[in-house]
Formats: sequence, C-alpha cells, structure tokens
Amino acid sequence: MSEEEILCSFCGRAKSQTKLLIAGLDAHICDICISQADMIVKDDEASKESSDFTVDLKPPQEIKNFLDQHVIGQEQAKKTLAVAVYNHYKRINQRKLSDDIEIQKSNLLLVGPTGTGKTLLAQTISKFLNVPIAIVDATVLTEAGYVGEDVESILSKLLQAAEFDVEKAENGIVFIDEIDKIARKSDNPSITRDVSGEGVQQAMLKLLEGTTVNVPPKGGRKHPDQKFIELNTSNILFIAGGAFDGIDKIIKTRLNLQSIGFKSSEKKVVNDDEKNVLRFVNPHDIRSYGLIPEIIGRLPVMCHLNPLSKDALKDIMTVPKNALVKQYTKLFEMDDIEFSITPSAIDYIVEKAFEFKIGARGLRTLCEAILNDAMFNLPSSDTKELKITKVYADHKLQNVDISHLKAVS
Ligand code: ADP
Repeated sequence: MSEEEILCSFCGRAKSQTKLLIAGLDAHICDICISQADMIVKDDEASKESSDFTVDLKPPQEIKNFLDQHVIGQEQAKKTLAVAVYNHYKRINQRKLSDDIEIQKSNLLLVGPTGTGKTLLAQTISKFLNVPIAIVDATVLTEAGYVGEDVESILSKLLQAAEFDVEKAENGIVFIDEIDKIARKSDNPSITRDVSGEGVQQAMLKLLEGTTVNVPPKGGRKHPDQKFIELNTSNILFIAGGAFDGIDKIIKTRLNLQSIGFKSSEKKVVNDDEKNVLRFVNPHDIRSYGLIPEIIGRLPVMCHLNPLSKDALKDIMTVPKNALVKQYTKLFEMDDIEFSITPSAIDYIVEKAFEFKIGARGLRTLCEAILNDAMFNLPSSDTKELKITKVYADHKLQNVDISHLKAVS
C-alpha cells in the first residue's frame, strides 16, 4: 500500500485531506476524528458530572431510627417524614432513569405548637442525608417590590448552605418556619393588597412546584449589577412548619366536637397523641385558617406534632445524642470539671419550661441562666466538680429575669 493511500480508519479521509494522521497497531486516526472524539469524551464527562449527585438513601425504617436518636416522641410525624423523604429522593433517582411515570413531589407541612421539634426534624433529616438545609422564616418574606426579603432569598440561603455548589443546593432541603403567619388575615380577601399574606403565598407557589430561578448568590434584593446563579427547584424538598395557633377550634367545629362529642371521647384518651385534636388536622382546616388552596396542594404530605409532655421534656434533657445534659457534661469536661445534675433539678427545669408553654425551646435558655455563673467562674478556679441541685437551680433563677421566655399566647 503506497503512503498516499493511507486512510483514517474512522472517517475514511485520505492522509492528504488531514493535518495529521496517527498510526496505531493496525489502524490510523486523523486529527479531525481526534478532536471529535475529545469532544464526545468531554460531553460524556459533563453529563456524568451533572447526574453524579446521589443521596445515600436508606429505607424509611432506617431514617426513622436515626430520627429517634435525636427527636423525642412525635412518632407519627417521624414515620410520615421518613416515608415522604424516602419517596422524594426515590423520585429524584427515578427522574434520572427518565421513566415515563412522573412521581409527584412530597413537600411537607408540619403542624404543631412551638418548640416541639419541627425545625429539629428537618435539620436531622438533612444531617442524615448529608444534604444542605436552609431554614427561613416566612414572616420576613414579602412579594417582590415590597420592603422585606424576596421569596427568592430562600434560595440564596440554600446556595450558601451548599457552599455555592449548585447541584447540592438543587437537591437540598428548605424549611419554611411560621408558614401560618402568612395566612390570609380573613376569609374574605380584601381589595387592598395583602403584602405579607396572600401575595407571599402566591410568590412561593412556583418555588414549591419546581421552577428555574435566577438567584442572587449573596442574597439581598435583586440588583442589575449582581451576577445571578440559575437554580432549579424541582428536586428541592420543601418542609413548611407552623403552630397554627387556634386551629384546634376550626378542627373541633368541623368535627362537631365542641360541646359533647369531644368530652365523651376524652374518656378513652390513653396517650398524648389521642388528647391532641391536631391529629385530625386536614387540608380543609388549613384552608379555613387562611392558606390558599394552591399552596396546600403543593404541600401534599401533612402531619402534626404533639405538645411535649413533662416526661418528654425530661427525656429531651438527657436522652438524645445531643441532649443538653450531655452537652454541658462535655463542655465542663474540657476544663476537667465533673458536671452532674440531680433528677430533682431536672424536674425543676422541666416544670419551669412547661409553665412557660414554649415546648423544649426554653430548656436551653433556662440551663444557660442556671449555669452561666459556673461557666464563667469555674475555668479559672480550682474547683473540679459541679453538682446542680434543685436548690442551686432555683437560687440562680431567682437572680435572672426569665419572664421573656413566656409564650405570648
Ligand atoms: P419548633 O420548630 O417546633 O418551634 P424546634 O425544633 O426549633 O421547635 O425546637 C427547639 C429546640 O428544642 C430544638 O433545638 C431541640 O433542642 C429541642 N426540641 C424540641 N422538640 C424536641 C423533641 N421532640 N425532641 C428533642 N428535642 C426537641
């Protein structure tokens, strides 16, 4: 075979038609085929990179077992959340297989009194899955153009939590706290604009459903000079939470339990969950409360949280992985101080928190108030032991103003 007749084994071009023809063992490749092959390799790598993000998904029972280590009680909520999260991430994986059955998003609505673990549940799930989480307060959000934060600022926070890794953010979790506070103020929508209520709900709709948003990475209001990052919300799991103060009346009215019905069923009450009328909450009640039907439709999984009993508060002090008593023990241990607290001191703190009706929220503040002097003084003293008794706790609390802890309602 003469040299002029050598052809590229891939495209058939003659050597004279190429800039370069490289010889292999028994084949040749031209420069044009090399650059095309290079492009194919790069494209393939890029497409793999964009679908590389996987969540190490475990079955619902395992998710719940993890939640059990951090969250006391709230059995029903933990089960519902575990299933919803499992289905949500299954849906993401399924999308990658481009099957033709579309699984709907399983965004959640958690209804329950303040300080009962709504935020904690969302945080714990994000920890379990190792996905970023943004916790936002619905009350600071306003419609674009009004004073306050645009609804898109939610995504800036998520992006920050994901350290600006777009793909991580797109598979993350957003917890929207106090969703009840953006309820329409009355059942009768007024003609004047409801800046903090229905308008915000409307603005949120698209995000919840899945859309592509230009996000100002540093947050703040949109500014023409600021570069945007494009973020798609289709795979973001939204969890909304709210206390919905007063919704029990709506539920009771619907169930017609107001007068005789509920009383008679009270005899059968065996646990906290059964006492809690919130367990009957349904989308209809949430609508009567003032969330628009479109929002409710985009938060299809709903569950309730129980008010925390004294026993639950006691357990919160000592049982979870990061229980307060364990944390303080560790903190003092770092200064070689042996920390202990008597059961009656724990009972005393629990009583106070219970009195204030703020769930577990107050436990930490109460502990801080009791331990502040010790944490200030002991590291520079020779004392190597700290035992908190009821008398000690009571004495310390006498000297600080904790009235701000009381629930407003
Ligand atoms: P919510 O969002 O319902 O108002 P949070 O989840 O923010 O309440 O709870 C506040 C704090 O109280 C949490 O950080 C956690 O320490 C504690 N806490 C609340 N509920 C529970 C619970 N069920 N189990 C363990 N700790 C809890």
